Amino acid sequence: MPIAEAVQLPPPVHRLRPRAEATAPILLSPPHLTGEELPALAATLQSGWVAPAGPAPAAFEAALAETTGLPHVLALSSGTAGLHLGYRCLGLERGDEVWTATLTYVATIAPAVQMGARPRFLDVSPESWTLDPELLERELARAARAGRLPRAVVPVDLFGQSCDLDAILALCDRWGVPVLCDSAEGLGATRRGRPAGQGARMAAFSFNGNKIVTAGGGGALASADAALIAEARALAHQAKRPAPHYEHETTGYSYGLSSILASLGLAQLGALPSRVAARRAIFERYRAHLGDLPGIGFMPEPGWSRGTRWLTAVLLDPALGAPSREAAREALAAAGIESRPVWKPMHLQPAFRGAPRSGGTVAAGLFERGLCLPSGSALSVSQQDRVIGLLRGLWRR
Ligand SMILES: *Cc1c(COP(=O)(O)O)cnc(C)c1O
Repeated sequence: MPIAEAVQLPPPVHRLRPRAEATAPILLSPPHLTGEELPALAATLQSGWVAPAGPAPAAFEAALAETTGLPHVLALSSGTAGLHLGYRCLGLERGDEVWTATLTYVATIAPAVQMGARPRFLDVSPESWTLDPELLERELARAARAGRLPRAVVPVDLFGQSCDLDAILALCDRWGVPVLCDSAEGLGATRRGRPAGQGARMAAFSFNGNKIVTAGGGGALASADAALIAEARALAHQAKRPAPHYEHETTGYSYGLSSILASLGLAQLGALPSRVAARRAIFERYRAHLGDLPGIGFMPEPGWSRGTRWLTAVLLDPALGAPSREAAREALAAAGIESRPVWKPMHLQPAFRGAPRSGGTVAAGLFERGLCLPSGSALSVSQQDRVIGLLRGLWRR
């Protein structure tokens, strides 16, 4: 059975007849195959390494080290596993505070909370939609005076844009607070010419099916510190010490990335530069064809940032004549087009009710008005035109 059928993906756009393409559902960010996946999978199966071990995970790690500029990489079964191991290697303990940007996906903070840590959610900067360094500076100074510095600061790369990691690292270094960067959405992005995540104590990446390149599910933890990644590697494989009978001084997890998925991820990773170019072109086309409408705005890209535009996010302001975010989302959904509100801030999630937060209402405002549009790198011009035409129609009502 062809892979596309087995996983129930819609057929690739180029194989649809024009009529079918005109009505086929459009997804937010579906996987985009390169054609090199099947030969890579076949080679791995034939090699006999049908396990989370062998040359494929090692080759994927080496390629990721190249891409991320972080020399030590551990391939994992998910980005969430990477964050979990990151917290564990930072020695996170029950009752410790972990600070993160409130505008993120739950996976950033879920493992820390499950370990008994107390989250504090910080607002984002309107300049980048990522953790606000000025707010962080004030909060760190205040926490230092009160003797309650966080165990870790976890900035987040958002929708393909790197956080202002240089400013964040400078502040955290001043107080000796380690930075674990959630770069799950940041692969391929740079800030001031440096890859997203590079410079943090550790950075976590994701290869879930919706990310800019996928392993069909997977993640990684990366660092410049070989010892940290060696410790994470042991924990990811049940903390086995080298002994024929398996000796355990502590307990770990079964978080290794299968060879099968690693070979898929490796085949995808080679296409990253072209995927970045495609997503940026899609963003620019949305902006060119929607930017004149009253009350619409686009996620900004500060001068220090060059992102991937993993997701194109627009802001819709009804007070200025735009439809509401929900009206737009529902109209798109009725036409078979998937879109999604900008992440609901963590401080507004019932799971984190009562958690302390710092800063203003930037993230809450972005959630209220922000919508992510179909952004997959295989999105065709005619599919994009369908999204654009439908949205433009909402202004004519
Ligand atoms: C996708 C994502 C993750 C986690 O990735 P998985 O591989 O799905 O576990 C973590 N953080 C953010 C911000 C993400 O978007």
